[in-house]
Amino acid sequence: MTNDFSDIRGLASTAREFAHAVNQRARGVEQGGILLVARPGAGATMLARRATGLLTVCDRDMADMAETYGAARMPAPCGVPFRAPHHTVSRRGLVGEMDLARYGVLLLSDVVEFPRQHWVTVGMNEHSFFTLLVVTVAPCPCSRPRCRCTVKQLERWQQRVDEACGDLGITKRIIVPWLTQTERTTGTHCSSTDEIREMT
Ligand SMILES: [Zn+2]
Repeated sequence: MTNDFSDIRGLASTAREFAHAVNQRARGVEQGGILLVARPGAGATMLARRATGLLTVCDRDMADMAETYGAARMPAPCGVPFRAPHHTVSRRGLVGEMDLARYGVLLLSDVVEFPRQHWVTVGMNEHSFFTLLVVTVAPCPCSRPRCRCTVKQLERWQQRVDEACGDLGITKRIIVPWLTQTERTTGTHCSSTDEIREMT
């Protein structure tokens, strides 16, 4: 697995929009997390993982990371860290994950499943170092191609998503389209991570 944007097929414009948002945040032009609205399996995690290729860690950051990972008795990553805690993580565990994600990516998949206290904890996290927050959410509770949710269910869902975004400080929403199997296997390749870094 190369973990490069060019591995992705059929999501070229979405990947470019996401990469641009990542670059803007890495450069400090924009602040706040990124929300990916995607049905399970649409490729949101795949995109989030590739954000690490657009970030850099300097030697000083590496030394800091080595210390944090050492204290957690874990091997330090050799590049940009990527942490994706499950929604069942304890608050203490979450704080630990936030530490491990420093200079890298913190992904909260199915963000509405996390307790509200966790959203607040992550949202209040203000440090001098950079961490990219990416969260994902399904477009609706049923996540079916032909939605079977009631209007009330959809309203409640949207309300919870808005609450999560507010607490977490999400400033960018990107919709990841659902592709057919053919589009996934024969669609246009995304630009490579190197090309994207130059472009945006
Ligand atoms: Zn639905």
